[in-house]
Amino acid sequence: MDSISNIIPNLTAPKKVVITMHQKPDGDAMGSALGLFHFLVQLGHQVNVISPTNWASFLNWMPGCNTVIDYEKEQSKSDGIIANAEWIFCLDFNTMSRTKKMEDSLLNANAEKILIDHHQQPQVEVFKYGVSDTTKSSTAEMVYDFIIQSGFSEKINNEVSQCLYAGVMTDTGSFRFPSTSAGVHTMIADLLRKGLKHSVIHEELYDNFSENRLRFIGNTLLNRLQIFYEYNTALISITQQDLIKYDIKTGDTEGLVNYPLSIEGIKLAAIIIDRGEERKCSFRSKGSFDVNTFARKYFDGGGHYNAAGGQSKEPLEAVVSKFIKALSENKNELSTYQF
Ligand code: 5GP
Ligand code: MN
Repeated sequence: MDSISNIIPNLTAPKKVVITMHQKPDGDAMGSALGLFHFLVQLGHQVNVISPTNWASFLNWMPGCNTVIDYEKEQSKSDGIIANAEWIFCLDFNTMSRTKKMEDSLLNANAEKILIDHHQQPQVEVFKYGVSDTTKSSTAEMVYDFIIQSGFSEKINNEVSQCLYAGVMTDTGSFRFPSTSAGVHTMIADLLRKGLKHSVIHEELYDNFSENRLRFIGNTLLNRLQIFYEYNTALISITQQDLIKYDIKTGDTEGLVNYPLSIEGIKLAAIIIDRGEERKCSFRSKGSFDVNTFARKYFDGGGHYNAAGGQSKEPLEAVVSKFIKALSENKNELSTYQF
């Protein structure tokens, strides 16, 4: 993979561009994709954003979100756009398998594939150009860096700003995670000076849920949370019946995995959700427990050092058992944690 700086001289020659991101895009995946979209459109490119799957409705306020194509809903149209593209930007994922059913179409496309991502161990061989930096807070921060590097900082309009802010803010846990560098604050200061209204974005993202979701969280914390003090670990497991009972939609469970980390002494928090077609896992840790390696080893996943995910086709009870067994195999690291 060559440096993304190689494409900068060609930015002013209009191209057919596709931007995509990981399945079930979160704030950073959608925010970075749409931020880049609004930038490239101003340079005259013909740009389509294609998401591998649907996304949480709390992202719908983002400018341009209504133009994003859901690959699962419009597969043949998407395949045509992907086949004709000259550039395909792949944002906020490290391996093509994170695009689920879109993977083959992306791999077979003739376009130059360009990676912008901050996850560990990227599949560099499938990208012609790119930038991978695991020290970055978010892909949105990296899109901002790319725009600055390109020399077109005047193209950072309100639409670009709103999308990039949403990406950085959500991936840094509202600027609290260790990845929130001085550079992140400098970037945000720049967006604010350009006129960004940040508090509106917090409201759009966090104050727009249903009553059902809050009651679902109440039930989950009361009845679906297990604490393993001997491993400094908390586990939430959610059945399909719970999802149906509370009418839980994509995105409604986001952030839930973080709640148990507020308990004194908890170093590792996990959530396992029975989504029907698969069991989806999320892992969050504090300090020195590496959930990227943990997710890779036991749950066919990956991510970052302190935030990772995975999945399993086994039944929920089997995945829970596997997790508990994995805890015992990691007993030394988990039980001797220094707070
Ligand atoms: P989340 O738990 O919020 O789904 O994801 C946490 C982090 O791990 C995100 O950066 C996400 O992209 C990554 N991640 C989540 N699930 C998977 C997975 O199945 N495979 C890989 N490689 N990364 C994942
Ligand atoms: Mn991200």
